[in-house]
This record gives sequence, C-alpha cells and structure tokens, in this order.
Amino acid sequence: MNKQGNGWLPPVRSRMMGVIVALGLLVPQTVTSYEIWRQYETTCRLAERNVNILVDLLAGEIHHDLNAVDQVIDQTTLDISTHAERPAAEMRRFMRERSLGVPAIFGLMVVDAQGNALASLHGFSPRHQSFADRIRADAQASGRPFHIGAPLPDPFDGTLVVPFARFRHTAQGEIDGLTIASMSVQYFRDRFLQIKSLPHITLTLAHVDGTILAQTPENDGTSLATLPEFQPHAADSGLVFDDSSAGSSRMVAYRTLRPFALRLTVSVDFDELLGPWRSNALRLVLADLVITLLLILALRQWWRGWQREAARLQSQKDEELSLSMARFALSNSADMVVFSDEMGVITYANQSAHDILGYDPEGLVGLHVADIDPAFHPSQWPAKTDELRQAGTFRFEAELRGKHGDVIPAEVAVSLFHWNGRDFACAIIRDMAERKQAEAMLAERTRRLEASNTELEQFAYVASHDLREPLRMVNAFVGLLERRYGDQLDAEGRDYVTFARDGAQRMDRLILDLLEYSRVGAESRPLGVIDLTHSAEAARHDLSMAAAESGALLEMPVQWPMVWGDQGELTRLLVNLIGNALKYRHPDRTPKIRLAVETGDGIATIRVEDNGIGISPQYFDRIFRIFQRLHGRERYEGTGIGLAICKKIVERHGGRIWLASVPDQGTTFFFTLRLATAH
Ligand code: ADP
Repeated sequence: MNKQGNGWLPPVRSRMMGVIVALGLLVPQTVTSYEIWRQYETTCRLAERNVNILVDLLAGEIHHDLNAVDQVIDQTTLDISTHAERPAAEMRRFMRERSLGVPAIFGLMVVDAQGNALASLHGFSPRHQSFADRIRADAQASGRPFHIGAPLPDPFDGTLVVPFARFRHTAQGEIDGLTIASMSVQYFRDRFLQIKSLPHITLTLAHVDGTILAQTPENDGTSLATLPEFQPHAADSGLVFDDSSAGSSRMVAYRTLRPFALRLTVSVDFDELLGPWRSNALRLVLADLVITLLLILALRQWWRGWQREAARLQSQKDEELSLSMARFALSNSADMVVFSDEMGVITYANQSAHDILGYDPEGLVGLHVADIDPAFHPSQWPAKTDELRQAGTFRFEAELRGKHGDVIPAEVAVSLFHWNGRDFACAIIRDMAERKQAEAMLAERTRRLEASNTELEQFAYVASHDLREPLRMVNAFVGLLERRYGDQLDAEGRDYVTFARDGAQRMDRLILDLLEYSRVGAESRPLGVIDLTHSAEAARHDLSMAAAESGALLEMPVQWPMVWGDQGELTRLLVNLIGNALKYRHPDRTPKIRLAVETGDGIATIRVEDNGIGISPQYFDRIFRIFQRLHGRERYEGTGIGLAICKKIVERHGGRIWLASVPDQGTTFFFTLRLATAH
C-alpha cells in the first residue's frame, strides 16, 4: 500500500483530487460573489437613473410654479401701476382673482417706495407691515430684481412661507415700490411628496448659496453651503457621489433653476439605499454557507465511503493473496493435509497426500478416513469428533494404508475447522517412513559402535594385563642375568643389561598407563552428585609431597560447587592437571598454582593456572592425544598419557577441556562440569 497517497491513489492523483474538490467548493462562493456584485451594480444604476428622472420631473414642476408666481407678481405690479387710485377692497379682489389661478400663491401684497401697504390679499396689519419691511430690506440687500428670500412665518397665520419680491420702478428708474408674493413651504413639500417614489430620499429646494427653502424630510435649518453640489464652481446640473460627511455617503442629482437662482436636489442616502441589497447579500452569503457546509458534509460522506470501499477492496486483495498463498503452501507442502467432514468423508487432500498414499489426483476425495487409517471405524467417527471438539487438537502416531496396501508410518495432528456452521477435521500428516528408517539405522550403528568400543576397551585391558606377565618374566630374567653373570660381563655387557631392564620397566609403566586409560569409564559407575571439595582436597593431599619439594604455592577456592561426576575420576583429573603444573614449572621461579571455579547456566568452569614453562599454541591439540609428549624423558618424566586421561574423564562427564598458554609465562587449563543444582 502506498502510504504517501491516500491509500489507493498515487500521491499526484491524490493531490489533483484535492485541488478539484477545493475548486468544486469554490463554485458556490464564486456564484454568490458574482450575484452580490451584480445586485450592487443594479441597485446603484437604478438609483442613479431614478434620482435623475426625479430631479428632472421636479425641476419642471417647480419651474412651472415659480413662473406662475412670477407672472402673478408681474401682473399685480402692472395692476397697481395702472389702477393705483382704486380702493383697497377692489384691489384685494383684483389680487384674489389673479392668485386664484395659481394655487401656489399663499400671500400677495404691494407696498410703496416707503414700505406702506398699498394692497394685500389678507388685509394689512402692523405684522404685515414689519413682514413687508423685512422683505424690502432683504430684497434691497440681495440686489436682485427678483428676490427670493429665506422661509419665514407669514403675518397672516404664521404659516412658514418663502417670500418672492419684485421692485417696481418709476419711468426714471427709481424704486416705486415692491410686490411681494409668498408660497408656503408646505406647498413645496406637498409637491415633493407627490412624486417622491424612493425611500431614503431627500428632496431639497434651496438658493444656489445653500439656504434651504423647503426640504423633505424636514430640514433642521442648517445651510447646505458646504455640500459639493452647492459649491460656487458646481455645474448647473449633475450627479454627485458624496462621502465627505462622516458615517454616511449620498448620491445627489441636482438641477439649477437658473432665472430664480434656485437649486433643486434629490439626494439618496447610500447606506440606506443599500440596505435591502445588504440584507439580500447577507441572505445569499448565509445560503452559500449552508450550501458549502452541505457540500462539505456530502463530500466527507462520499470520501469516507470511498475510503471504506478502497479499504474493503484492499482487504479483499489481501485475503485473495493469503488464500493463494495458503493454496500454494497446501499443494507444495511435503506434509499430507486431509480435510474430512462430520461423517469422516474426505473432502480435500493435497498433492502430497495423493502422492504418498499412491492415489491419482482427487482420488482421495469421497473416501472415508478409515480407508487410509484402518485404526478408525466409520461408526466411531461422531464420538471422535466430539472428543476432538473438547480437546482442540489430537496428536498421535498412525500406520496409514496406501492404495496398494503399503503401510506408511505417520505422525498425525488433527484439529477442528469451523466453517459456515459446519465442523471439519483437518489432519496434518507427516510421513515418518524415512525418519523411522533413519532412526533404526542410527540405533543399529550406535549399538555396533558401543559393542566395538567395549570390545576394544576389553582388548586394551586384557592385552595390557596379559602383556605384563611376559614383561615381568623379562624383568625377572634380566635381574637374574645381572646378579649371576654380572661379574663376568664387561662394562658394555652391563650397559646392555641396564638398557634391557630400563626398557622393560618403561614398557611396564606404559602398559600400566594404558591400563589406567582403558579403565576410565570402564567400570561404568553412574555419575552422581558429588562435592568437588572432596576431589580437590584429595588431589592436594596426593600431591603434598611433590608440592613441598618444589616449594610451590597452591591456591584453591574456599567454596567448590556440587557437580555431577565420579569422585575418583575427578580427583584423578585434578591430580593430573596440578601434577603437570608442578612438573612443568619454570626453573627460575617459585611455582604458583591457582585453582578457580566459575558457575553459570548450569555449568561449572574450573581453571588450573600455573606460571610454568608454557606451551606453544601449535601443540594445543596434540598434547591431549595418547602418548604425545613435547619433551624428552631425560628432561621431564612421563609417558604422555596424563592429558589424554583428563580429556577422556571430562568428556565422559559431558564437559569440555581446553587451554590457554603463553610460552615461558604459564598455562591455564579449563574444563567444564555439569552443576548438580541444575537438575
Ligand atoms: P606427560 O606429562 O606424561 O608427558 P601429559 O599428557 O600429561 O603427559 O602431557 C602431555 C604434554 O603436555 C607434556 O609432555 C608437556 O609437554 C605438556 N604439558 C602438560 N601440562 C603442561 C603444563 N602445565 N605446562 C607446560 N606443559 C605441559
């Protein structure tokens, strides 16, 4: 399985899948963003178009109204000039008729050059007088022939009105008087309300200097002079986006009513205009989030499903692989494998079973187990199956019957195999014919070897024993010869006799050593638990004379372990090794012999260390062989059998003997024995 990827896709494809899924998740976001942007554009475009239409519409109507008022003022001015002598009541009727056609007119009055009232639509009172005085002063201050003043309460009933005034002049061009008309602020507001089609919209009629005449929603009286559309350099008409005032921004369409020096503005609060767009955008974002979330959930489900499916496929593959391997192992197994059902009928047998039992392929299927193992009877089968169910596994040796009646010794392991509510017995059978044959051959060979060994040992024993007899005779007669004819022999003859006696004596020692060698283990005393302390002490005692003579220092462990062994043989072993350490001491130094013992893993390792002449490593093997010596008799006494006996004793005890040595420095012999505590 590729751990770098997601388990079944290679890493590159896995990364690509990730990118595709991420892109897929981006689709709703892209669509939503586009839609939000589109709605914003539409909202702005629509608002722009609407304010333009609105301002044009309103400008037309207001312009029309103002023209009408201007005409009434003109005509009234004309009337007063031509009918000045008429009584006031008639003048008032005149004025009423004039203003009747112009509903925009709220008040109308005419004053002379000094400000005295000549005629008035609503009578004349001191309040009218001061109203007229104020307008006259304002008109003179403004210097414009057609003066439009800031809103102020009408003297008639206090209604807030916008005053309009035009000076009358004499033929010489001097001011003859003033005709004042007024329009209620509410009139303009009503006009505004009639056409106001957009919410969050502010309609304003103001002087070009920013003085507000009327505004819907109602103004707070502040001047608009600071706004961009009222700047002196502003064009006559236009569309302004203004975000100069903190916290809000506006879209303003304005028109200038040129002859009246008035400016009409339609302003939309952008933030409020965008309110519906905003809540719509919020809804879209929420919907998008929900869709994305659902998409993620769906993707996660799908991804998990896919992973599960991939894992299932993988485990199916693994199962197929192990099944194929099991099949391969079954058909190539050297052991026979046989399955049988609840009744003991063989349902499967592998190739080895067919080959070994001599059946054609599939020839075993359908037979009863009793056909290949006559020890079973079909009637026993159900009971045997019950036993197997309880025991789990049976192991036994059987003698199978081949197709042609041949007997095949076998080792059988039967286990119960449950499958699909059924119980099958699975037998794994090992053909033991070859092993049995080999075992029999080995046993025969061992028997023969033991017999020949015993024979050899007996021969060595008898031979050495019997050889001593004629040797004793040779010795006796050489002694007789020496005693009786010694005087008659010359020096050479006496030497010959001495050589003959020495030779006979040496031969006797050799035979004695050989006898001893052949005796090791010959008594066949069984090994027992012995305390090595006794053997060590006995060896020390045997060698005490020799040790004292050489002035040797012998060091032994305080504590010896209990081992499996033969007391006498182990004493002999230690005597030989310590004796050699004394014998092969260094001529220039006091012999130091140190015995030590280590235990571990059920084994005692004993070491005998000396500071003697040492042995060259090339002789390490040779010295254990019988009659092998490294020195001549004239230097060191001996026959060369001591270490051969040591080896024989150690090996009879199931141990090992070896050495380490540095010539001229010393030798250490090691041997192992089995610890008695280990049993
Ligand atoms: P022998 O001592 O009778 O010659 P062994 O079988 O005991 O026979 O020893 C064989 C030979 O091994 C000896 O001739 C001697 O050369 C050598 N050898 C044995 N033990 C020692 C020892 N401790 N130090 C040096 N040489 C040894």
